[in-house]
Amino acid sequence: MTQSDANPDPQAQPCPARPMPIGPLERRITRQVLIQWGSRRIRVGGGAPVVVQSMTNTDTADAIATAIQVRQLAAAGSEVVRITVNSPEAAAAVAPLREQLDRMGVDTPLVGDFHYNGHKLLSQFPDCAQALSKYRINPGNVGAGSRRDDNFAQMIEVACRYDKPVRIGVNWGSLDQALLARLMDANSRSAQPWDAASVLREALVTSAIESAQRAQVLGLGADRIILSAKVSSVQDLVAVYRELARRCDYPLHLGLTEAGMGSKGIVASTAALAVLLQEGIGDTIRVSLTPEPNGDRTREVVVSQEILQTMGLRAFAPMVVACPGCGRTSSTFFQVLAENIQRFLREQMPVWKGQYPGVETMQVAVMGCVVNGPGESKQADIGISLPGADEAPVAPVFIDGVRDVTLKGEHIAEEFQAIVENYVRRRYSVVSEASQ
Ligand code: SF4
Repeated sequence: MTQSDANPDPQAQPCPARPMPIGPLERRITRQVLIQWGSRRIRVGGGAPVVVQSMTNTDTADAIATAIQVRQLAAAGSEVVRITVNSPEAAAAVAPLREQLDRMGVDTPLVGDFHYNGHKLLSQFPDCAQALSKYRINPGNVGAGSRRDDNFAQMIEVACRYDKPVRIGVNWGSLDQALLARLMDANSRSAQPWDAASVLREALVTSAIESAQRAQVLGLGADRIILSAKVSSVQDLVAVYRELARRCDYPLHLGLTEAGMGSKGIVASTAALAVLLQEGIGDTIRVSLTPEPNGDRTREVVVSQEILQTMGLRAFAPMVVACPGCGRTSSTFFQVLAENIQRFLREQMPVWKGQYPGVETMQVAVMGCVVNGPGESKQADIGISLPGADEAPVAPVFIDGVRDVTLKGEHIAEEFQAIVENYVRRRYSVVSEASQ
């Protein structure tokens, strides 16, 4: 008998008999809003899957350039695409843009983003009002004084006339200053005043909710309203959305505004959105990344999808699990293989998703050496453990947890890709036939 058997640690916790179950995340209960173009119907809230959306950065007046970018974003998986409508030229281009997209076979709903002059543009360009599937209205940017209420009412009246949903999108950088002053005054008279940051957060929430209530008074259905309140700080975003979620049942559009470039933008957006999504808050998301000059705008779509997929909320494309590599890695071969397989899988998805239902949930492991390679590969649907430094130059492939074949020689990458393709055909076409 060992010492530990004789004197068990009173602090030690017994191992659970069964693994702790991880259930599906509970989602906040909301109304459901339908965003529609033709037969394409995107449901937001009310238990629908979290919708991925994005925004163009082309000049909307250039309908061809904008159509090309919308098509790219839609092909990447953006289910709704927002476009800037900031001038008469842009408003005049919206209907031709919509027609161009329809000719290209792109039925993704378009959302018009309006600031300052939206009331005029929507009234003066009825074809634009009709061609858009949703209007984004920023209550902080609809005018001042009495014009503010009139302009807001004019936009809501157009939404009612064309039966379009709206997103009432409040933004930290363009907060309704009259409302903020009102809340600041009330706070200063309070016996226990809040700090300025708390009043600002309250102003965001109040602006969104009061504007939505006003839209309802003006005749817009509650099931035509989505809210957002974007800020650029992770902690502020979490606090504001928790409060919005507590005080209303409109679906919520999540996004960190001005998230930034590259890894900073991705990390900040993921940190904020993951906390809220984990709490069941958020019905549609956009990751606002600043692209590199001439960078790929579709990156924000891929990041949104990867946030949802890694959290287990949705599946869009097979995911590659790859180790980071270390001193045991004999070359960059495994990094190249991991990247190529990930790209290959994504590129196949437009065809595969029709042919092989369920393939988007597949996990592929590409590992750099024997330390974690076989173990991780066995956990995946299909995995390869490449040889590390000083290991025999062979690469065992595991399929459904069982060692299937060992690859060696110059063509490991090509052979592994062929094995993945065969696996997809064999496993997911069976599901396809059964589901017909
Ligand atoms: S699997 Fe091997 S190569 Fe990859 S990180 Fe672990 S020890 Fe390093």
